[in-house]
Amino acid sequence: MSSTAQMTAVVKTGPGQDGVRLGSVSIPKPGEAMARVRVAATGICGTDLHIARDEYACEPPVVMGHEVSGVVDAVGRGGDAALVGARVVLETYYSTCGRCDWCRTGRINLCPRRRSIGSFENGGFAPFLVVPQLNLHVLPGAVGSVEGALAEPLACVTQCLMDPSVVDAGDRVLVTGPGAMGQLAAQVAVACGGSVTVAGLAQDRERLDVAAGLGMNTTAAPAEENSFDVVIECSGSGAAAGAAMHAARRGARYVQVGIFGREVALPFDLVLYKELVVSSGFASTPASWRRAMTLITDGAVRLEPLVTRRVPLNDWAVAFEAARSGEGIKTVVIP
Ligand SMILES: [Zn+2]
Ligand SMILES: [Zn+2]
Repeated sequence: MSSTAQMTAVVKTGPGQDGVRLGSVSIPKPGEAMARVRVAATGICGTDLHIARDEYACEPPVVMGHEVSGVVDAVGRGGDAALVGARVVLETYYSTCGRCDWCRTGRINLCPRRRSIGSFENGGFAPFLVVPQLNLHVLPGAVGSVEGALAEPLACVTQCLMDPSVVDAGDRVLVTGPGAMGQLAAQVAVACGGSVTVAGLAQDRERLDVAAGLGMNTTAAPAEENSFDVVIECSGSGAAAGAAMHAARRGARYVQVGIFGREVALPFDLVLYKELVVSSGFASTPASWRRAMTLITDGAVRLEPLVTRRVPLNDWAVAFEAARSGEGIKTVVIP
């Protein structure tokens, strides 16, 4: 009989969506320079669906969930005991090699040996997880723990939009896709001085209303050709990406934020004819987290309106289905 205390978690155990199931894993203990976090809420996002469908690299068996907010519950040897009890959000990398060209220039998101929570190391669809203490960011008092789960996707958006900055004051900005990434990207673009239109499909009416509530122009019709200085593709749909390229003005910037999960056909000649500048960002870095936490603390980005559903851990499948069907904006799992 094992004396290790167990907890219930959403585990990717093997290939395919059937490989995702509720399982029992040991409650982790924090090692040196590590911290254990009691999870308050973990967001579900498109990447989780890609992991479930084997469209995104992972190493089963692994507890899924990487958009985590919680409270520091214990620190390991050499840890900062003053952090215990702090409400925190966390950077997603668990370890990087520290030696490659990218690690050595601070681009740890590009380390080929990067191991992140929720795909290679146990993540946040569980009551507890352990992460490097360095990864913790203390939430400002005005931001609730549940909405804090959106700090991670925000850091991914700031990686796409602020390092380097792609929106200048006065830019007309189109955001395609009114999901969580689109809603965050729109707010970041406004914070950078852009005038933002969020575009979606007819069935996105409710999500477009949320964007409108945040002060954005919205449209469920195809965006006008050649009319935006910056287009930010957040839907991960090939059709939307093509429409965004058409909507871009000559010399505009095209930013890919959404993940397609497959090869898609795009009118790529428009990149040449219009001299579009294409950029993106993969996951997050300590720098993009610093920007994200500043935007949250200043109130320039609001997270609370984006939490549209909370489900208990045992109902994890409901959360996956909500994400799959595009219901609401962000569903969070409460362990
Ligand atoms: Zn995510
Ligand atoms: Zn490296």
